[in-house]
Amino acid sequence: MLANYHTHTIRCNHARGSEREYIENAIKEGFTVLGFSDHTPQTYPEGFNSWIRMALSEIPEYTSTLLTLKEEYKGRIDILIGYEVEYSRRFFPSLIEKLREYPLDFLIQGQHFAINEVDGFYVGGPVDSEEDLISYVNTTIEGMETGLFTYLAHPDLVNYTGPDDIYCKHMRRIVEKSLELDIPLEVNMYGFSDGRWYPCDRFFRMASEMSPKFVLGCDAHDPFMVRQPEHAPGLTEFLEKYGIDCGDNLVTLKDPHAPWKLA
Ligand SMILES: [Zn+2]
Ligand SMILES: [Zn+2]
Repeated sequence: MLANYHTHTIRCNHARGSEREYIENAIKEGFTVLGFSDHTPQTYPEGFNSWIRMALSEIPEYTSTLLTLKEEYKGRIDILIGYEVEYSRRFFPSLIEKLREYPLDFLIQGQHFAINEVDGFYVGGPVDSEEDLISYVNTTIEGMETGLFTYLAHPDLVNYTGPDDIYCKHMRRIVEKSLELDIPLEVNMYGFSDGRWYPCDRFFRMASEMSPKFVLGCDAHDPFMVRQPEHAPGLTEFLEKYGIDCGDNLVTLKDPHAPWKLA
C-alpha cells in the first residue's frame, strides 16, 4: 500500500495528533502519498452546529498548514489536500463554491447522512426500514453522479438491520454505479479495526462478485492509524476471503479542477 487518501485532523473534533505526526508515521509505514481528507465543513443554517467536522472559518488555516507541509516534505512523500465530503442536494452546491476558493487536490465522498445532516438521518443508526436504506442509496448515488469524487469511502456505512435480500437488492445499485462511473469503493480500515459493523461481509461478498475497483482507506483519526493492512490484525484475511486486491492502492485522482466545473 503506497497511498492513503483518508486522513483526518484535530479540526473535526474527534481525531487527535498533529499533521506532522500523521506524515511521519506515513513515511515510517512506507507510504509515498498521504492525502488529508478531513470532514468537510458545511454551509448549514445559522444556529445548526455539527460537532463532527471543521468549521468553514477553518478552511484557510487547514489549507495553508497543508500547503506548508506539502512543500516541506516534497521528495519524501506527496501530501495532498482534500476533504471527506457529505453530499446533499441542499448544501453541496454552496459548499463546492466555498471549497473552490482554495487549492484542492481531491475529494472523497463519505455519506454519513441520508438526505442531509439537517433534514435527514444518520445512516449508522441502526436503520431498520427499507425506505431509509433506499434513501441512503439514493443520496449516495446522487453524490457519485456529480463526478467530483475520487472514491466512495465506507460504501457500506449504512447499518441496515433487515434481511440480506432487501439489503443486496438496493446496495447492489451502489456497486453498479461504481462500475458505470469508474469510482472505486473503499474498504474502511478504521471500521474494521474498531470492530464496527463495516466493512460488512454481506456487502463485500456481493460487491467482490461484481468486481468494481476497490481501495483501502485508513480513515486515520490518530497518527498510528496510518498503517499497512498487515498491521491491522485480521484485515489481510478479510481481503483474502473476498479476493479483494487493491494493488499499491494508488487511484487516479479526478481532475483537481473539477470543482470549478460545477455551475
Ligand atoms: Zn471521523
Ligand atoms: Zn473519514
